[in-house]
Amino acid sequence: MNGSQITTAPDRRDGATPAPGAPVLEVVGLRKRFGDLTALDGIDLTVNEGEVVAILGPSGSGKSTLVRCLDQLEGIDGGAMYLDGELLGFEQGRTLRPLTDAGVRAQRRRMSMVFQQFNLFPHWTVLRNVTEAPIAVHGIAPAQAKAKALDLLAKVGLSDKATAYPRQLSGGQQQRVAIARAVAVEPRVLLFDEPTSALDPELIDEVLQTMQALAATGRTMVVVTHEMEFAREVADRCIFMAEGRVIEDRPAEAFFRDPQTDRLRSFLARSM
Ligand code: ADP
Ligand code: MG
Repeated sequence: MNGSQITTAPDRRDGATPAPGAPVLEVVGLRKRFGDLTALDGIDLTVNEGEVVAILGPSGSGKSTLVRCLDQLEGIDGGAMYLDGELLGFEQGRTLRPLTDAGVRAQRRRMSMVFQQFNLFPHWTVLRNVTEAPIAVHGIAPAQAKAKALDLLAKVGLSDKATAYPRQLSGGQQQRVAIARAVAVEPRVLLFDEPTSALDPELIDEVLQTMQALAATGRTMVVVTHEMEFAREVADRCIFMAEGRVIEDRPAEAFFRDPQTDRLRSFLARSM
């Protein structure tokens, strides 16, 4: 992370519990370069408590880079990101000193990311995949973590797979385990990067339904997706990105019914 180029505001925490509907994530003027390539060119985005925000856009528009920056898997070149008002990546307070690795890990524990490639640990059972982080990272008692994992596995329709290994599951089942794992740590926000793109078409719906059920429980979710029906039906807001910028950011219904730019209009015409 290149601290010298960061232009950012100080910590905004006031010690109060976030109100319902308060911003969980705030992105202000976020910039990210890969060498000469500007992948994110000043992104502004707010995600409120309980909101489901879909991020749409052509390949290469910066969608993955955005969620990877949010999860601090990539350093940033400018702007700022806040989680519950806390500046990400920097020590809290007046000086902008980059966080230590331990500090970054502590912030990252408050979000979960679900990837296109489920990234389950192949040599662990489904149950251990779901309980490992709560026990080893969050210090939850094993019996409690196990009870919660079994409950989550039931919610994603995989009660009978707790003792199976990932290779014994279909791609859709593996992704549902990955979702249960992401939820098990009670993150403030769930990030998804094209969670159904690696799946055979007949397995996509079961994963989308799992995500829809999750959204209905009031989880705060940011979902990069090409699934237009999902975005229209499940998202509260849709963001359209192109060339590292947010082109449109609107309630889902208006986004699809009445696009404001030719760019989004032609994207929707091509995608639906
Ligand atoms: P999307 O997810 O919308 O398809 P990405 O965020 O993956 O787009 O990529 C945005 C741009 O950044 C693309 O031009 C891509 O080639 C480039 N890019 C992404 N990751 C890297 C990387 N690690 N190194 C160099 N360029 C990258
Ligand atoms: Mg991508």
